[in-house]
Amino acid sequence: MITYATEFKTASAQVTTDGKLRAFLRRALGSYEATRDTTQRKYHSWSEARQAASEIKWDAVNHLDRYLAEFITKIEARGAKVFVAADAAQARDYILGVAKENGVRSIIKAKSMTTEEIHLNDALEKEGHAVFESDLGEYIVQLRDETPYHFVFPAMHLTREQISDLFQKELGSEPTNDPEQLTMIARRVMRAKYIEADMGISGANFAVAETGMISITENEGNARLTCALPKIHVAVMGIEKVLPKLEDLALFLPMLATAGTGQALTCYNSLYGGPRQPGEVDGPQQFHLVLVDNRRTELLADAEQRDALHCIRCGACLNVCPIFKNVGGHSYGTTYQGPIGSVITPHLRGLQNWKHLSSASSLCGACTETCPVGIDLHHHLLHNRRNAMREKPLWWEKILYAGFVFLMLRPGLYRIAGKLGAIFFPLHKIVNGTPLDPLRSWTKTREFPAPARQSFADYWNRKKSNAGANRGAH
Ligand code: SF4
Repeated sequence: MITYATEFKTASAQVTTDGKLRAFLRRALGSYEATRDTTQRKYHSWSEARQAASEIKWDAVNHLDRYLAEFITKIEARGAKVFVAADAAQARDYILGVAKENGVRSIIKAKSMTTEEIHLNDALEKEGHAVFESDLGEYIVQLRDETPYHFVFPAMHLTREQISDLFQKELGSEPTNDPEQLTMIARRVMRAKYIEADMGISGANFAVAETGMISITENEGNARLTCALPKIHVAVMGIEKVLPKLEDLALFLPMLATAGTGQALTCYNSLYGGPRQPGEVDGPQQFHLVLVDNRRTELLADAEQRDALHCIRCGACLNVCPIFKNVGGHSYGTTYQGPIGSVITPHLRGLQNWKHLSSASSLCGACTETCPVGIDLHHHLLHNRRNAMREKPLWWEKILYAGFVFLMLRPGLYRIAGKLGAIFFPLHKIVNGTPLDPLRSWTKTREFPAPARQSFADYWNRKKSNAGANRGAH
């Protein structure tokens, strides 16, 4: 039977044996940590900034009802239409309704992971609307009929040559490996799409309760055109994006850039707070804001893992994750990849179907260490594993853990088992990889770890007896 877990296993096995792709991914992320560290050193104290960000997010998430109500009241007062969608289907239906009511034919989109989460493009295209992604990376993966590889760098898995081939095939352009020329090719196509579009769809990085505005951060200027040119602007965001005050952006905007790409500040940071106001010369005539719950309130109710809603989607945890670097983004089969994806996907899409992602981790803690808002990511992976086991233990898990408890409670037996393990290792070497090897599916892609020459108990006993002998000698 094909499950999400078997698909993940097959896809990640394919990538782990593709040395070229892994080397390319490592190179693509290679300079990230050095650039980020240089920018972080410009902060008076990065750790104090992290602490402050974590506290603001804690306040925002733990008082989400109040801040959301304040935000909605203020943005509605300026003419925005707000729709709170309980799930993805409600969000899609609302946007389809707006498109139908206004006779929308062509839609331009800025980057938005929430619209990926609710599978908006497919729904719009099925109803006959032409949808164009305006972020360069998103446009490239759209032309390839793929999902984003990384939620900050959607096309990071592609070489310039591959992008040039794609543009030749899909857009009839001349071959070139020059990034600027490749950008200009996409830009020429895109300009016409902005003019034609009846509707612009964007996401939002933050929503400010105090002023009733959404904040959008980008490097290409495409989101500004998407939000300003078409007569209808639809913004789609998760309910957890609210920040209490405008001044909070002074911390979060540079922090998002530094953690995400290593930049001091992203090139364009814009605030939008409703449709064109009387006396204004530009801006959309209609402004719709779709607030997506989609099981976020269930995560909010979970006091242990609620801080996963602090995420600002900077992508830093993906960039440092040894699993992401080796299995790549598409293997996850989710909207949100990497450590944060492995933590929240079981909440958003069902624990039993997605629990395997929480096991695909070395628990090294690099994600937790790098997260700018201090989410305890690697412990949440453990929480998911524990919850999945409690909810529906598999027969072999029950036997395995019962055996583990049995051994742990009997030190004598535990020591014998350790000795047997030491005998098993040379025996395993003889059958390694053959049909007689009981561990062959596990050792296909890894070495069986050699047992320590000395157990900790032996080491400790010897140390104690040596100390006793020394005391006797004195
Ligand atoms: S969990 Fe932290 S590091 Fe990962 S994307 Fe979210 S904010 Fe960034």
